[in-house]
Amino acid sequence: SVLVSLRGVSKTYRNGTQALNDISFDVRQGECLTLLGPSGCGKSTILRLIAGLDTLSSGSLTHHRADRGKGAKNQNFSMGFVFQEPALMPWANVFDNVFLPLRLAGRSRREARAKVDQVIGQVGLAAHANAYPRQLSGGQRMRVSIARALVRDPVLLLLDEPFAALDEITRFRLNDDLLHLRETLGTTLVFITHSIYESVFLSSRVLVMAAAPGRITEEITIDSPLERD
Ligand code: ADP
Ligand code: ADP
Repeated sequence: SVLVSLRGVSKTYRNGTQALNDISFDVRQGECLTLLGPSGCGKSTILRLIAGLDTLSSGSLTHHRADRGKGAKNQNFSMGFVFQEPALMPWANVFDNVFLPLRLAGRSRREARAKVDQVIGQVGLAAHANAYPRQLSGGQRMRVSIARALVRDPVLLLLDEPFAALDEITRFRLNDDLLHLRETLGTTLVFITHSIYESVFLSSRVLVMAAAPGRITEEITIDSPLERD
């Protein structure tokens, strides 16, 4: 099923910059869709529009209710975000960085604790739950950021060049882990990257974009990325 559909979406910023021109595509449940293209082609703008952080100039953007299967508690359209610079709370340890947002969202202490333990394990940080952000490597901080995005069971995870600032070996590991998470959680991902390698490695579909104004020039479907090895 389709989670988000964009039809004829254009975006012109207040200063007159036309960031997007006539963008149409669907985000399908369970896929990893990458937006690949040069700086300034409107990739972040698309993510912000999907996230509801900005408004379209014309066209339509619709969020559809996810089919989460029977027994699923949360039928809401929840989204998680991961940005290039993880904004962690420096005064809180890893556990609390993931726990506090969940408490603020109204979960009980006990429920939140169990969920945080689970997610911290999934991103490979169980041994670092008591560490503070400044004691972590860039890759570990990114894992905290991913944990924080996953902890609310998002239907859709939006990642804006999450690994751009990291060294190649760390990126390599995180890519592997993200692929694994995708496999185990079945989360739908929309992922921005500059790296052709990353887009092919991680995604099931790539939208190639060009700039001035931002538009989609090509769509590439990648066969069963999860089955390669
Ligand atoms: P990308 O993520 O592909 O680098 P962006 O979506 O950030 O592209 O930007 C697309 C275009 O819109 C660029 O020309 C950029 O300078 C412009 N832009 C982005 N945000 C704003 C803004 N808030 N106001 C004006 N122009 C913006
Ligand atoms: P080849 O199979 O041609 O040797 P590699 O798999 O080594 O190619 O990588 C191709 C390019 O992508 C290299 O520049 C490499 O550093 C980079 N790269 C490899 N793996 C990753 C990864 N997981 N994330 C980001 N970049 C990667």
